Amino acid sequence: MNMIFLGAPGAGKGTQAEVVCKELNIPAVSTGNMLREAVKNGTDAGLAAKKFMDAGELVPDEVVIGILKDRIAQDDAKNGFILDGFPRTVAQAEALESMGVKIDKVVEIDVSDEAITARMSGRRVCEGCGNSYHIEYKPTKVEGVCDACGAKVVQRIDDKPETVQARLKTYHEKTAPLKDYYQSRGKLVTVQGQNDIAETSKLVLAAIKG
Ligand code: ADP
Ligand code: ZN
Repeated sequence: MNMIFLGAPGAGKGTQAEVVCKELNIPAVSTGNMLREAVKNGTDAGLAAKKFMDAGELVPDEVVIGILKDRIAQDDAKNGFILDGFPRTVAQAEALESMGVKIDKVVEIDVSDEAITARMSGRRVCEGCGNSYHIEYKPTKVEGVCDACGAKVVQRIDDKPETVQARLKTYHEKTAPLKDYYQSRGKLVTVQGQNDIAETSKLVLAAIKG
């Protein structure tokens, strides 16, 4: 099963993708995590992406599409995958189609901008493996240390309040049109993501199975 998790920054796409991946035993493919890794490693894609990411803007389609294409060609994606944070533009959705990737379901996680703005200040990410945490809703067992790999857990540069507002604006302008795109193709299911992580997971799993 190939799925897309769609939603504003901080809506919980990544967290829910991790839950569902364990349940279905398919990988979560996060373009945000891959781009952060590329920036850390100083690859060409990373160098091209950094200034856009820091400003809360989208990385150019051709850069992201290239990374995504390589990733889903890998062996572990053969039986399906969850795309977390891709596509983010209609051009990216069209690129998926022209690659011949069949999408079974698009799960939109809907959270108001107000709730997102309130959540973002508590968000943390692991410098080592990219796992995401929240100081209130999904804390690490040991403060500041990743449960999965033991590396340091930090706030992302783009989780600063000004940048969060820029990312929300980018989302509404560039990414939200994908709701209509997939609705008209009969793929879209919308789940309310305002409640806690476990509650949202129940809704997401029900939406996938339904
Ligand atoms: P969030 O969903 O919390 O905004 P991500 O980790 O998915 O964060 O993405 C972080 C940043 O990486 C985005 O603000 C954007 O600059 C870049 N990015 C990630 N995925 C894409 C994509 N599909 N297209 C363009 N830029 C992307
Ligand atoms: Zn880690």
